Amino acid sequence: MIQGSCLCKAVTFTIANNPVKVSHCHCIMCQKGHGAAFATYARFKRSDVTYLTGENKLITYNSSEDVLRKFCGKCGSNIEWGCSERMPQWVAIAVASLDSPIDSTKMKNLHLESRAAWLHSLPDSSS
Ligand SMILES: [Zn+2]
Ligand SMILES: [Zn+2]
Repeated sequence: MIQGSCLCKAVTFTIANNPVKVSHCHCIMCQKGHGAAFATYARFKRSDVTYLTGENKLITYNSSEDVLRKFCGKCGSNIEWGCSERMPQWVAIAVASLDSPIDSTKMKNLHLESRAAWLHSLPDSSS
């Protein structure tokens, strides 16, 4: 069982299975939203994710018409990236919110074309 939480611990959740896919997303929206060079998300089956506390504290933001991002309304931690239209059965969870280790051997880099110019070294950037 994978455990996760936001920075202030208002939002806590568990995930029943390992991710099917993990990626560093270098798109501009992830950079802005995370205040970081890139966002690392792991894709899980939505039915495997169970909120223990704070689901009602999550604020939602449509960064694109069909992309819904969710973050803690108290501390701002990014939690979910979801695409209800195209893949309603899947959800991407911000890996930094996880308190348990996950298998990250299948790490991919997405949207490297918009990679932050100030990100000079990317350790282990191969997929
Ligand atoms: Zn929080
Ligand atoms: Zn992105």
